[in-house]
Amino acid sequence: MSTSHQIELECPHCGHKQVATLWGSINVTVHPHLKEEFFKGRLNFFDCEECKMQTPTICGFMYNDMHKKILVQYQPPQEMEDREFLDLFTANGTVVLPEELAKIPEIQQYMSQPHVVFDMEELRRYVRFRELLYERRGPETGGSGGTGAEDESPN
Ligand SMILES: [Zn+2]
Repeated sequence: MSTSHQIELECPHCGHKQVATLWGSINVTVHPHLKEEFFKGRLNFFDCEECKMQTPTICGFMYNDMHKKILVQYQPPQEMEDREFLDLFTANGTVVLPEELAKIPEIQQYMSQPHVVFDMEELRRYVRFRELLYERRGPETGGSGGTGAEDESPN
């Protein structure tokens, strides 16, 4: 699921008010075009139609690639201490899931361990890193055993 909401914002440069769309989360498996927009830096920016200045918005954001199991949560650094945000996590930095999700082991493992960043650029870098690993290693099989040596032998 991808979620967005519309909000009226004021341009910090010229004071012009206009409605902007802020994305709280994108699921790139379901909405691949949003991934493209995100990597072009088009999401969660306030594009002033008056003075043409671009301003990043202060908006929490979750990147979810269900296929590659990449889950990254961006939190604006100035909102790191928000009670609501902190309440999402255990002391170990894992997410407290609703009971119905916690019952499904595969979801539990992936959804409860988002990579948390406080910088949007870092989010892009991290996704890129994970995609490189995915290309190199293939899908995570779940098992932690094995040396991986068999992957290297040319058959
Ligand atoms: Zn402006």
